[in-house]
Amino acid sequence: MKLDCFSVWQIHLIPDFTFSEKIAIFPQRSAFPLMYLVTIGLEVHCQVNTVTKMFCACATSFGEEPNVNICPTCLGLPGALPVLNQVAIEKTILTGMMLGCSTPPISKWDRKNYFYPDMPKNYQTTQMDLPLCIGGQVPLYDHCYPSDAQKTIARPNQIIRLNRIHLEEDVAKSTHLGTTSLIDFNRAGTPLMEIVTEPDLETAEEAFAYLRTLQMILVQGGVSFADMEKGQMRCDVNISLRRNASDPLGAKVELKNLNSTSAVRRAVMYEIERQTEELNAGIPQIQSTRRWDDDRGETQMMRTKEDAHDYRYFPCPDLLPLHTMNLVERMSRVVPELPHQRMARYEKDFSLTRYDASVLSSDVPLAQYFESAMHPAIPAKKTANFLINNLLGTINERNISIQECPVKPENLANLLELVENGTLAANQAREVFIVMLEQSEKTAAAIADELGYKPTDTGALNELCDQIIAEFPDKVAEIKAGNERLLNFLTGQIMKASTVKPNPKLVTDLLRDKIG
Ligand code: ZN
Ligand code: MN
Repeated sequence: MKLDCFSVWQIHLIPDFTFSEKIAIFPQRSAFPLMYLVTIGLEVHCQVNTVTKMFCACATSFGEEPNVNICPTCLGLPGALPVLNQVAIEKTILTGMMLGCSTPPISKWDRKNYFYPDMPKNYQTTQMDLPLCIGGQVPLYDHCYPSDAQKTIARPNQIIRLNRIHLEEDVAKSTHLGTTSLIDFNRAGTPLMEIVTEPDLETAEEAFAYLRTLQMILVQGGVSFADMEKGQMRCDVNISLRRNASDPLGAKVELKNLNSTSAVRRAVMYEIERQTEELNAGIPQIQSTRRWDDDRGETQMMRTKEDAHDYRYFPCPDLLPLHTMNLVERMSRVVPELPHQRMARYEKDFSLTRYDASVLSSDVPLAQYFESAMHPAIPAKKTANFLINNLLGTINERNISIQECPVKPENLANLLELVENGTLAANQAREVFIVMLEQSEKTAAAIADELGYKPTDTGALNELCDQIIAEFPDKVAEIKAGNERLLNFLTGQIMKASTVKPNPKLVTDLLRDKIG
């Protein structure tokens, strides 16, 4: 029976040589290298954010002592029986809803049989023909492309179709030390979503953007932490080349278990180049599985289709099929706003630029901070500017998250109000903000006051302006003659003479009015 969407890909059975052997056998390179169409599909394994494991009550954990969260079920001891984790199922269905999948009315569990030391019961409980989610799509966010590829996006706003999302269990983690292998079962039985795309991607950059976008959606939906560094998200890449769009797909090469977005990008680039060179040298590709060596920056052959597994799937006799209707109904009420929906709302309702909207919608706590800091007296654009240009940089430097930011959104609104009513200039507001970070118990107005930025007494300021204008008649004459730059000189004189620190912009405006 066929499980994945790639089983239709063509199989070429020819003897396998290593890359260098092939180059030696086929030394003739075409003087005009041919170009190929690249087809990429991704399979992402992603841990579902739950407190307990998929089929037992053991805690899901990361970074604990080895083999502390284990029981007969997740150790795979004979006779131990699985019990379904409802939250894992709900979050997978929710993921499907966020990504536009449908859920079949009945979903079931199957055994995928294979031997591996990190899975002692010799089968993985997974889903074959009736997964929790079918179809769906992931929009590639343009701001999720690698920063050096932002300006050369070949297919902006591209949508990647999904084939399915199914729920299964993670295996244990093995560590190889010389001739010894250590196994930690803390991870065994952690709920794992497998998210499978259609072969819709075409470049390394799209694969990168897909993973970043998916990560953002999963994290914002609260269904996974999707941290690749912690192994919470892992990716298999299927890649094939062909000459023309009318040709059948080329032989599929699968890259296994990539664990960072940049590794995926580099591995795909390498593989496109390797396959292109081989095809140009007349070497047909064969369906095979390769591993990515991150240190050497190359892929290495693991196995060909000939020694591929036959998993002998069959329905799990320990778990009843699941009626999904009630779960679907319940989860449909808690589908969150997605990053691109929030971004569109910011652009439309608050007139933010696309860039500002994408930054602020990229993280839920940041979006919440922004929305709480908004104030009817302050244009949203100005709040967004201060957040992006001042606040984010400052807290990043100090390595604190937006949730830990000592300046609460209401206080930031108060600070920006002082700018709006003319008490503070932009650079003065930045200065006040830095002090607010240290003295979060004080209001923005109190700190501004302590720094000498008092609300301008217009009477006193008027008098001071008149005084300075009288003191520098020659400069005033030059300004009248069109030398606007000298306004700054007079502003400086007033700033010096003033006992408080008025907003320089306000002073310049006042001078301009007076001089006419
Ligand atoms: Zn357990
Ligand atoms: Mn899987």
